Amino acid sequence: MIQTYPVDSAGGHSFERWHLDVFGCPGCKSNLVPMDSVLKCESCGTVYSVLNGIPSLISPDTALEMTAGHLPVKEFYLFERYDWTKDSKGLEYIYHHTRRAETWHYIEKLLPRDGIVLDIGCGTGLITHRLATIRQKAVALDMNLWALNQMNGKPYIVKAQADAEMLPVQDSSVDMVIATEVVEHLENPETTLQEMLRVCRPGGWLVGSVPSTNSIWKMRQHLSMTCAGNEPFHRNFTRNEITDLWHRVGYDGQIHGICFGLNWLWTVQK
Ligand SMILES: [Zn+2]
Repeated sequence: MIQTYPVDSAGGHSFERWHLDVFGCPGCKSNLVPMDSVLKCESCGTVYSVLNGIPSLISPDTALEMTAGHLPVKEFYLFERYDWTKDSKGLEYIYHHTRRAETWHYIEKLLPRDGIVLDIGCGTGLITHRLATIRQKAVALDMNLWALNQMNGKPYIVKAQADAEMLPVQDSSVDMVIATEVVEHLENPETTLQEMLRVCRPGGWLVGSVPSTNSIWKMRQHLSMTCAGNEPFHRNFTRNEITDLWHRVGYDGQIHGICFGLNWLWTVQK
């Protein structure tokens, strides 16, 4: 059974202009205004708590559904305790660090100069750390508050608890959107892809990676030292399935796919 959803607030966190230019109400996508120790939507009036300096930007409806146990997949990631950057063991360590190097090689070439990058499902910061290292302004989003708390990227990184299917980000407000190893955990990947397109400015890049259908994935539960046996949802993708996903959300531009064996990297330009 799900624990009580965190709703208490802690103030004392100051938001910079660029944070507030990007953050938006997950429900109506309007501006959020700092007010005492919370962020308040200037349009619908919904109030979002700030926990340990991290705004919790999950819509009240989604929070209620999770509390009621109606969204078991989202709920799983709310309470997962896995640090990709430090806890990885054996094969996981090799996999995560190899995929970071492979993915970063392409991300680095597409990064916007003086722009803002959105990292969706950032976890403990496998990719976000790299962005902070090169002083790239980035907004790091994850459902898991514990994971967000493990990461320190100030002053370049601002973090928020968020649902990938209902991004707390204003329309066309970021210059690049990254989602590595996220979409395979989502029951409605189209919703997240639509959200990625919405928040990216025209001409900006969307970059993501997903596991391929390589047969080694069938042995994941046996080979993995960290994969939770109760993981509620996970799927693998062929190149055509990735293309179909983008077509289903109405994207008719070029979809570049690069296969690294165990996973696919895709890049799409809005
Ligand atoms: Zn609102």
